[in-house]
Amino acid sequence: MLQDLQKALSADFAVLMTMEHARQTMWPDFLKSYLKTKTEIQDFLLEAATNQQQVEAIFAQDSAQKLLYSSDTQLITVDGMPRAVSSFPLRDYLGSVDSDRDDIGRIVVWTSAEKEVAEFEENTRTNLFIAIIGFLVIESLLFWAIKMESKLELHKEIALRDGLTGIFNRRAFDKRISEEFYRAKRHDEALSVILCDIDNFKRYNDHYGHIAGDLCLQSVANALTKNLKRSGDFLARYGGEEFVIVLPSTDEQHAFTIAEQLRAQVESQKLEHLQSSTGNIVSISCGVATSKSADYAAGMEPGALLNQADNALYEAKRKGRNRVCTARIAVNKTAESLRAC
Ligand code: GH3
Ligand code: MG
Ligand code: MG
Repeated sequence: MLQDLQKALSADFAVLMTMEHARQTMWPDFLKSYLKTKTEIQDFLLEAATNQQQVEAIFAQDSAQKLLYSSDTQLITVDGMPRAVSSFPLRDYLGSVDSDRDDIGRIVVWTSAEKEVAEFEENTRTNLFIAIIGFLVIESLLFWAIKMESKLELHKEIALRDGLTGIFNRRAFDKRISEEFYRAKRHDEALSVILCDIDNFKRYNDHYGHIAGDLCLQSVANALTKNLKRSGDFLARYGGEEFVIVLPSTDEQHAFTIAEQLRAQVESQKLEHLQSSTGNIVSISCGVATSKSADYAAGMEPGALLNQADNALYEAKRKGRNRVCTARIAVNKTAESLRAC
């Protein structure tokens, strides 16, 4: 019967009888001689098997110890091949009418699991491959995105810098003055602006050439940068040979002092300028303007503050250059008064 089942189902079978059942149903003498002809597997006697060698090999393995006491299917390698092994109870006639009666043995069935294991391994390989590709794609996208972002940041930064001097450009200034002005207005704080202009720079270019003129612009930008100590202070090239400085939370007196230091710093560089009307060295003139509470209350705009600084610069030029002038801002008027420089 087992041979027929094997052929029909392509599976191997073994019938095991419990030792207990053998003791209950056989005469002790017969049992003794019977035991000599049968293989013992745990508490069972191997009654019949389609492949005795394989069933012994299965139960020689530690992982098979629980096989005869559960209906789980286990994967066990026999003769180097994976096999799916399972067992189910063997009931006799009395057992089929009395459910309290113990099983008289177990039927063990096993079949090759080669195809399933190969499929599983193939699926695992495929999943692993997909996971690796997915990981690489995500990593590449992330890398690309980070690169693009830093490139974008760099472009943004470059767009705000002056190509010749490396300091901020007019575009950056326009944005900053607006931000600082309205911040100062919100907090009711003073905000100062200094406009600086190189004296007789046209003559410098004419005399020393445009390339020397460029180097001179760089030197002046360096001198101004060196003298600005607070992190909130902002320096930009306003255009041509003009520079602008924004000083948050700075009153007129303090701004004047800073402007004077900037002027002195340029002067102390002692860059030769034989055509200058102020001496034989490169110098700058500065115009200072400050906005305060009363100006904000009267609806002042950033442009008016700059106009005041420009008027003060004009006055510094008029008074002989290489000096600093401050403007008192009058709402809705141009420079109402200009301090003596
Ligand atoms: P003032 O003392 O009244 O300011 O006289 P100035 O000669 O400095 O003023 P003006 O506006 O007559 O001339 C400015 C000169 O600055 C003219 C222009 O050629 C020069 N300039 C502007 N931008 C650059 C630049 O990027 N490089 C160089 N080398 N020269 C520049
Ligand atoms: Mg100028
Ligand atoms: Mg000038």
